[in-house]
Amino acid sequence: MSEPTIFERIIDGDIPGEVVHETETVAAFLDANPLTPGHTLVVPKEPYSRLRDAPPDVAADVFAAVRTLSPAIEEAVDADATTIGVNDGTAAGQEVPHLHVHIVPRFEDDGGGSIHTVVGSFADLDDEEIHGIATDIESRIG
Ligand code: 5GP
Repeated sequence: MSEPTIFERIIDGDIPGEVVHETETVAAFLDANPLTPGHTLVVPKEPYSRLRDAPPDVAADVFAAVRTLSPAIEEAVDADATTIGVNDGTAAGQEVPHLHVHIVPRFEDDGGGSIHTVVGSFADLDDEEIHGIATDIESRIG
């Protein structure tokens, strides 16, 4: 058996966590290092590493919880909007190898950017290259 992830330990009550929502398959708790007040992590209780590893029904449960929680969180902290994101893999910034969706309440004056700011510069692709990528993606889905 591998070591439980930090999120499993929160779910199991072995370490403290501000749990705000729990179902049979999903848990949500406040991030210990919040980007903004109300920053919440939504996780499957099973420690699937990446989104692709979670069975579709569990992934659906996670995103259903995100949908339920995001307006409640916005209201609780009087936020103006929300950024929802997954660092899916280490190159994307994933540090905890247990799938988690970040719900980050946003404020008009928080100084942050949009999802378009996660890379240093935009890709420089022409229409043919974009079409080639689209065709490749489509061919990989059964
Ligand atoms: P990642 O970079 O993997 O997408 O994000 C991991 C998140 O987990 C970070 O935002 C970090 O603050 C949060 N985190 C790490 N350790 C703990 C912990 O022990 N408790 C809680 N509540 N959050 C944690």
